[in-house]
Amino acid sequence: MNAVLERTIDEAAVMAVLERIPDPEIPALTITDLGIVRGIVSDPPRVRISPTYTGCPATVAIEVAIREALDRAGFEDVHIERVLFPPWTTDWITPRGRERLHAYGIAPPSPSATAGCPLCGSPDTIEVSRFGATPCKAQWRCNACLEPFERFKCH
Ligand SMILES: [Zn+2]
Repeated sequence: MNAVLERTIDEAAVMAVLERIPDPEIPALTITDLGIVRGIVSDPPRVRISPTYTGCPATVAIEVAIREALDRAGFEDVHIERVLFPPWTTDWITPRGRERLHAYGIAPPSPSATAGCPLCGSPDTIEVSRFGATPCKAQWRCNACLEPFERFKCH
């Protein structure tokens, strides 16, 4: 499909593919919202990505999702390069990603010891468990609306 894909790569087209790939764990977010796409390189053509949490099973799922999406879009020649340094941090989640997390009912990561309830907005919340449904998230509960919610752990 890409006859001109020799030494050049259509970065915008590849980026458009990446921007539509949902995070396997939090489908409300795309992988570009997460900030794990580090760049697109032409020679050889490859996408550079940083895994999120080390050992997080989502890392493999994300790579599989990227591979499938690239192949579907005709970018079979574009490889995936894992970049480990500097390591990904939650600071790289984009402002749009933070908004989407919040809208999805997950408190975005922050260095603060407290988390605002993503459901009612109350600051009166408490961490119930360091571990939520996945190692990336902690389980919290709101004392105002009594609803449990997850918080993306700062990393
Ligand atoms: Zn609440």
